[in-house]
Amino acid sequence: MLWAELREEEFDDAVKKTGGVCIIPVGCYEMHGQHLPVRTDVYEAEALCFAAAEIEPICVFPAFEFGDSSPLVRWNGAVRMEPKMMLRILENYCTEIARNGFNKIVLVNFHGGNVPFLNYFMSYISAKQRDFTVLSAFPAAQFKDIVAKLDKEGDDVFPELLPEDVAALRDYVENNRLGGHGDLMETSMMLAIRPDLVRMDRLGVVDGHSTKKTDRMKEAGLLNSRAMWDLDFPNTYSADDPYNASERIGRLFIRLGGEMLANACRVFKEDYAPFQETIDYKRPFYHN
Ligand SMILES: [Zn+2]
Repeated sequence: MLWAELREEEFDDAVKKTGGVCIIPVGCYEMHGQHLPVRTDVYEAEALCFAAAEIEPICVFPAFEFGDSSPLVRWNGAVRMEPKMMLRILENYCTEIARNGFNKIVLVNFHGGNVPFLNYFMSYISAKQRDFTVLSAFPAAQFKDIVAKLDKEGDDVFPELLPEDVAALRDYVENNRLGGHGDLMETSMMLAIRPDLVRMDRLGVVDGHSTKKTDRMKEAGLLNSRAMWDLDFPNTYSADDPYNASERIGRLFIRLGGEMLANACRVFKEDYAPFQETIDYKRPFYHN
């Protein structure tokens, strides 16, 4: 169920059918090596939301396109938005979703750099008087879990995969391949979502390995994942070049992530009551 495709008279029924769950795909616009488009994370977050909505009744709101790309001043195509503006836009999205009757909102994020901002947003929103609850999810299936399942249940356990895909996944885990940004998972997902936008011939053009500039600081216990990532991966690419990416591996990650997200939304509906009690209890004490 897509918010954008509902007619006016369908909304009341949509709120009932979904148990009041509305999810927002959250991404960003930023370089992903030279082989993937800048909107990669938004395409991926949307694909996971659409897959989850096929399984569980939920409403999918239009994407929050411009997440936190704050460190990216040196590359073309990044869209950096002033943090206060991001906060206000996302708050406005949530209050409009709630005004339309959905009181359970999930921010479905697929950009690691958004995590600190979204955590701040959720603290900020929970200090205000709101008759809705916002949670976040990052429904990325893990390579090691996929390979563990292959080991346990055999190479045919994932009907999407061909033998070369199984080999690629095993190679990733067993040889400790570098990933995280523009990697085997993301490249495969984009091959499944928008193959016309993937340029495998541009792999290897920029280096995806760490400069290790912040390793000593991290070892010394200093933290700032947002600023440090930019120093470690100045090419905005963190991966061993994923030449073995495939549309089939991408479909597997979308299916598994969609299942994780559908389950998360079901749990949110079933276990919501304590959140409502908290909202009522805190009512006299909010900062607005
Ligand atoms: Zn990405």
